[in-house]
Amino acid sequence: MKIPLVDLKSQYETIKFEIENEVNRVFEDCKFILGERVDEFEQSFADYCGVRYAVGLSSGTDALQIALRACGVGIGDEVITTPLSFIATCEAISLCGAKPVFVDIDYETYNIDVCAIEEKITERTKAIIPVHLYGLPCDLTPILQLSEKYDIKVIEDAAQAHGAKYYNKTVGSIGDVGCFSFYPSKNLGAYGDAGAIITNNYSIAMLARSLRNHGRSEKYTHREIGLNNRMDALQGAILNVKLRHLNAWNSKRRQLASLYSKLLANSNVVTPTTPQWANPVWHLYVIRVHDRDRIKAELESKHIYCGIHYPLPIHLQPSFESLGYQKNDFPQAERASNEILSLPIYPELKEYQVYEITRNIIELT
Ligand SMILES: *Cc1c(COP(=O)(O)O)cnc(C)c1O
Repeated sequence: MKIPLVDLKSQYETIKFEIENEVNRVFEDCKFILGERVDEFEQSFADYCGVRYAVGLSSGTDALQIALRACGVGIGDEVITTPLSFIATCEAISLCGAKPVFVDIDYETYNIDVCAIEEKITERTKAIIPVHLYGLPCDLTPILQLSEKYDIKVIEDAAQAHGAKYYNKTVGSIGDVGCFSFYPSKNLGAYGDAGAIITNNYSIAMLARSLRNHGRSEKYTHREIGLNNRMDALQGAILNVKLRHLNAWNSKRRQLASLYSKLLANSNVVTPTTPQWANPVWHLYVIRVHDRDRIKAELESKHIYCGIHYPLPIHLQPSFESLGYQKNDFPQAERASNEILSLPIYPELKEYQVYEITRNIIELT
């Protein structure tokens, strides 16, 4: 039997009727962009995260770009982030005219190395984007201290961490702005592209609302050059349904992750670390293993499909060649990218499948 890396269909089967009801309401209203369903989602998501405002957008990439612009980041500014993330984190920085500045990762958590940030701060540094990679919260306290000391905004990329906690706070709510993607395979996924920012800052929220809608102040008056980054009503309706299940889905992921860690405890692979500040949501369950590509191929031949997040760090991507980085500039990120392997994890994955996957991994390593 085939075990995919993610399985959206088995989840859809469990919520099909709820989804149909909500989606039908959108067709009855025939209001397809923003509107009541999106308002409702913004309110519920803000409450869920424990913040005042949520702004519904068209993707996670747009969320990052709008967050940066709403924080005043623009041409000539520098933004510090990690080289081990999905490309969008860095694209958003370039898209608003700023320069990405990388800080290597901590090899154990895969998140930005908080001890190496300060030396990269210059008078042009306007923001830091920590990424809660794989659903594991970064250590935010030292980042917030730097933000205070140098007057730098903190924009959390929480695209893989819906509902994860840093101590007792929900990630995304801790910096100046939190950015979320609702790409279908994320822990909270729409059925198409969607995203959001969350914040407690009124002026950031208002600016983001204006920027997502062509920089509009009132109808047909545009205060600045904005974007078309509005959330669709259909996605708002779907997200309203799915948000109600998020905590249950995240706890299933936690159970599966702890089973993986238990079964792989005395094996030749390195299982994920959970620092004391973190309650992760296991968007991905990532191990480190020698001879990774062979193991991945052999698992595939047994119909177990794994992923690599990410095989080429951003500083070595052809699209960012102009930044002038080279091999060995960020040795921890490069070393990790050669060893990491993402195992199948999703709330509907069965425990016996985890047994089967780990048995195969142990045999192969
Ligand atoms: C998915 C993701 C994004 C981008 O989100 P999209 O909705 O696909 O635009 C940004 N950052 C990280 C870390 C992601 O995983």
